[in-house]
Amino acid sequence: MSTLEGFTIPKTQTAAVVKELGAPLEIEKSHPVKQAADLKPGECLVHISHTGVCHTDLHAKEGDWPVPSVHPLIGGHEGVGTIVAIGENTPNSPVKLGDRVGIKWMADSCLNCEFCRRGFEMNCPEVKLSGYTVDGTFSEYVVSYTNHVTPIPANLESAAAASILCAGVTTYKALKVSNTKVGDWVALPGAGGGLGHLAVQYAKAMGLKVIAIDTGAAKEKLVKSLGADVWIDFKTSKDIVADIQAASDGLGPHAALVTAASQTGYTQAISYLRKGGTLVCVGMPDAEMGANVFWTVFKSIRIQGSYVGTRQDAIESLDIAAAGKVKVIYEQKGLDALKSVYEDLEAGKIAGRVILEVSKQ
Ligand SMILES: [Zn+2]
Ligand SMILES: [Zn+2]
Repeated sequence: MSTLEGFTIPKTQTAAVVKELGAPLEIEKSHPVKQAADLKPGECLVHISHTGVCHTDLHAKEGDWPVPSVHPLIGGHEGVGTIVAIGENTPNSPVKLGDRVGIKWMADSCLNCEFCRRGFEMNCPEVKLSGYTVDGTFSEYVVSYTNHVTPIPANLESAAAASILCAGVTTYKALKVSNTKVGDWVALPGAGGGLGHLAVQYAKAMGLKVIAIDTGAAKEKLVKSLGADVWIDFKTSKDIVADIQAASDGLGPHAALVTAASQTGYTQAISYLRKGGTLVCVGMPDAEMGANVFWTVFKSIRIQGSYVGTRQDAIESLDIAAAGKVKVIYEQKGLDALKSVYEDLEAGKIAGRVILEVSKQ
């Protein structure tokens, strides 16, 4: 085994644990830490400094998705930290001890199956999901995988990088598959939220014109400051479909990126999209889409699911952030605040993102 020089791995740590499905979150002060000698080949131990909190963590805790999560579970899949140990006999590790790396939703995949070979690593039958099927980043030390941790660019702060690893890469990838080109219009329902406010910036960085849809003065101010071309408040709009189409040459946007976990966002998009447009599905309600078949066919609409991103997508999305084109708007708290953050997330009260400082580094 190899451990970072001068670093002592403690036996216990603070971790936010959900013992069983639907159980309350417990902050455990003496949760065991996997020691360097116990790491398998390909595994690494990451000392976490910051982690983002994502809506998916709520699904993992409640178990309300059709894919089961494991329990007891440590959630979290937007973590940044330092590699302090690498398992013995790890072949060709692309990262080394002391590297600052990110842990994303896709913790590991086999790299050899058809899906991995074709760039659908997230669909690998052997995939491991951080904070869902393996322990995630709401703890001081996380076991992750050398092939899949993401190197963090030197000029990007850890707190700022954390949410790029899920919200950022997810929205960036969704825009990549949106079939748009420079100058096209994209509609972003939920533009003021955790994913939405990053989608606005990636869309602008990619040369798109943005229709930001959300509600309230705070979110309006936020998305406008991030470069949104048009703001539509869904609560005050009398006819949202007409307003969106009017804002985009009267024809509707070329793509819609639906990040909200509700059916309405999907059904509306079929109505307002431009003929030949693309509906990119990102938000995941466990529900039927309700897309009208007649209009989907008649308007030549393309419906495209987009699920997180690959190792390469993660690197690209971080590079764009490191170039100063995308900034995560966040509020920083401690790991102890996780419970109240969940409550605020459920109530839809969070503009931007919450980052937890797990340890000082
Ligand atoms: Zn997430
Ligand atoms: Zn695979």
